[in-house]
Amino acid sequence: MDKQKLVALTFDDGPSIGTTEQILDVLEENQVVASFFLIGQQITDETADLIRRAHSMGCSIENHSRTHSYMTQMSEEEIVEEITDTSDKIRKITGEAPQFFRPPYIDYDQKMYDRIDLTFICGYGCEDWEESVTAKERVRRVLEAAKPGYIILMHDSANNIQTVEAVKEIIPTLKKQGFTFVNIRGLFEKSGIHPQHNVIYMGADEVQ
Ligand SMILES: [Zn+2]
Repeated sequence: MDKQKLVALTFDDGPSIGTTEQILDVLEENQVVASFFLIGQQITDETADLIRRAHSMGCSIENHSRTHSYMTQMSEEEIVEEITDTSDKIRKITGEAPQFFRPPYIDYDQKMYDRIDLTFICGYGCEDWEESVTAKERVRRVLEAAKPGYIILMHDSANNIQTVEAVKEIIPTLKKQGFTFVNIRGLFEKSGIHPQHNVIYMGADEVQ
């Protein structure tokens, strides 16, 4: 079989009332799935419904730490707490534990690899946390870097409406180019790649 053109859209720093909901609307309209890397302390009774909705749509819910801090400066106990707290909360809501982890600020070291039993993910961002990077520019950067196995890194943080606008254009354009959207688990499964530990993935077959 020819190599499939798979792409995984991933969102960090949610769940956020407003933004996450709008991202889910766009995914639904386009009938695609994505992955959400959640900050544990933002998982509340108020945001639990957004997580349930994303999960029921076929999106995967993954771990982005509890407090979104620089984790290389933490003790081993603190590292473990950051991860297990967030994974426990997600499992209680979705019935499924995270399998992937994106380190806050992509700050990681061997101590974290040793203590965190999840696959480390990075991917390609477009500086969508910068207000000055317009929706149009975000679209341009994401489309420019597109290739099979591509992991797109964006943020469904509070009030990040420019990313909602960008995603509205990114999804149909990549679909037209023949890309299939999968969640981060599907990206590895459908590529036939078993995720390794002690590496961080930029794409399905690309490590940093
Ligand atoms: Zn983040």
